[in-house]
Amino acid sequence: MKTKFSLAVYLAALGLWLAAPASAQDLGPHFKQVKDGIYVYAAVLNEANSTIIRTSDGVVLIDAGQSPKDSYVVAAAVKKLGSDPVRFVIHTEPHPDHVMGDFVFSPPAVVVAASGASASMKQSESFSPARIERETAKSPEMRDAFKGFRLVPPHVEYRNRMTLTVGERTFELYYLKNVHSEADTAIWLPKERVLFTAASVGVKRFGNHRPFVSIPDTLDAIRMMQALKPEVVIPGHGVPGTAKILDDMENYYDALMKGVTAMVKQGKSLDEIKKELKVPGTEDWEGKDRFPNNIEAAYRAVKGN
Ligand SMILES: [Zn+2]
Repeated sequence: MKTKFSLAVYLAALGLWLAAPASAQDLGPHFKQVKDGIYVYAAVLNEANSTIIRTSDGVVLIDAGQSPKDSYVVAAAVKKLGSDPVRFVIHTEPHPDHVMGDFVFSPPAVVVAASGASASMKQSESFSPARIERETAKSPEMRDAFKGFRLVPPHVEYRNRMTLTVGERTFELYYLKNVHSEADTAIWLPKERVLFTAASVGVKRFGNHRPFVSIPDTLDAIRMMQALKPEVVIPGHGVPGTAKILDDMENYYDALMKGVTAMVKQGKSLDEIKKELKVPGTEDWEGKDRFPNNIEAAYRAVKGN
């Protein structure tokens, strides 16, 4: 009798388990569940994150993945979750490692980005036929993944702020000025306290600062995002974590600005600063070759240009 009862309980538990939604591990080795129904994917450390967000009214995707190959992995995961097709793709930035795979989801997905994203994509060499041919030549799998490729300029471009409601979830989009690309967006889910920072911050990694990137503007963006008090922070690239990601980056830029300011006051040239300046706490950071470029950005800010 006792055995029968146990068996019944076991079978009931098995039934529940089979009916339960897929866990992050069922989706594949590179998926990480950060909250109920929110799964972050990146096949290789520091490649662009792509995040599946389930809602009662369909899936919202934050970025399409490093390459179309990754977009197909994400599309397969969406299918495994038993969800409807992706309804919205929100771009954190218009660079190819975030948007190349849009065509995998759209149509039917509507693509949303900050104002300037389409212009940036259309001007970029990254989407030229020659460049696409180089990408597809990397492997037979990549050639397959690029079949049917077409650039999908965002259907919706917002200015400054936008609120998107899908099912029970709210997405607040904030335009971030001069932090990385021509059209960077932070995405905040206030109920879940989940924040997507775009490439305004990295995780133990130096960013590449294009000539228009401003460290004071980036510090403003970081402080705006800290004030939201997020529980989960998902950068454009790198392992998701907590608000410590923002704090570490704020400390780094503060120290960098102070260091460059002090050396400029001592009359040192940009070349001398590049040779001499060290920022403690960054010894184990990746992308050291970008540090001189970070010094240039700080130097521009100190000199007021
Ligand atoms: Zn980028």
